[in-house]
Amino acid sequence: MSELGSDVKQETNEYLIFKSICHNSEKYKLYYYISSKYFFCYSECHNMSIYDLIMKIKKCEFKDAFNLLKDIVGNLDRPFIGFGDNEFIEDLDDIEVPELKEIDKPFLYNMYLKKEIKEWSEEGISYEVQQKFKIRYDLKGNRAIIPVFDDNGKTIGIRTRNFNPRDIERRGKYIPLFYGDKCYNFPTSSMLYGLNITKQNILKYKKIIITEGEKSVLKGDEYYPNGNCCVAMLGSNLSKVHKKIILDLANGDKSFEVIMAMDKEFEIYDSQERIEYEKKIIKNLDGLNQYCKCSYIVDKEGLLDMKDSPLDKGKKIFESLIKSRKLIN
Ligand SMILES: [Zn+2]
Repeated sequence: MSELGSDVKQETNEYLIFKSICHNSEKYKLYYYISSKYFFCYSECHNMSIYDLIMKIKKCEFKDAFNLLKDIVGNLDRPFIGFGDNEFIEDLDDIEVPELKEIDKPFLYNMYLKKEIKEWSEEGISYEVQQKFKIRYDLKGNRAIIPVFDDNGKTIGIRTRNFNPRDIERRGKYIPLFYGDKCYNFPTSSMLYGLNITKQNILKYKKIIITEGEKSVLKGDEYYPNGNCCVAMLGSNLSKVHKKIILDLANGDKSFEVIMAMDKEFEIYDSQERIEYEKKIIKNLDGLNQYCKCSYIVDKEGLLDMKDSPLDKGKKIFESLIKSRKLIN
């Protein structure tokens, strides 16, 4: 951090406080959480890995951030541990899926209520489904508490969905839970949300539907209580570890299908935006198509609004979008 331009303002057992060099501010709003190994900028940038931070400051690509960090650490004469080498492995088969640490959360189910998230019920996610995914409500903070599990049901992190406009503006809609001195963050690029619930269906039906956010997975369960095949990337980038998780599910079966169901990012079908949108989706599937069937949803008929997930407008529209999906050879 000193190399990047910040001193340490304060250090505790849980975190260190730095200058917000992420957005070029003199204020000390950038926290590094020791157990999650993630940064959090409280004023603007929110959640960041060390690589995200360097990429932001230096306005560079991941590869350059990696090399810069390697140089800095190299000069300190310290061993390299956990350097995310996965990014440079070409063959997906060689990727290692890291085992994520179980979090200690004795407070979680005592602190937060079993209470319906009204905002979500109004969107068609029933209380029953909210319960199935162990979603809780924080009365004091007016926010949804979203525990995140690995595919075996181990709790690996906790996210929150803010509903207060002021919190959304200040901190963002979806942020990790901060409780006491701890930040319940986790590497979203190393897990697929919902897999603990939908894995058996994915194996049975030999298909996986990749969405961006948690709510899409919950909606999938609403539409198909016993056949939901949705997971969420918790972002818009399908990482190499994500792809390896999918390959392991496909288990060498070339008829296994990966269906990308990303949020709509164009207004008019015949537009440059739509072309860029499809390019982004196809890039996400890069490398997977030699192992299994790959397809994606693109809204040709104008059934969705901008920023909608393909699951946002009900089961009928979702099925019509699935039917007209595009296959990648
Ligand atoms: Zn910042």
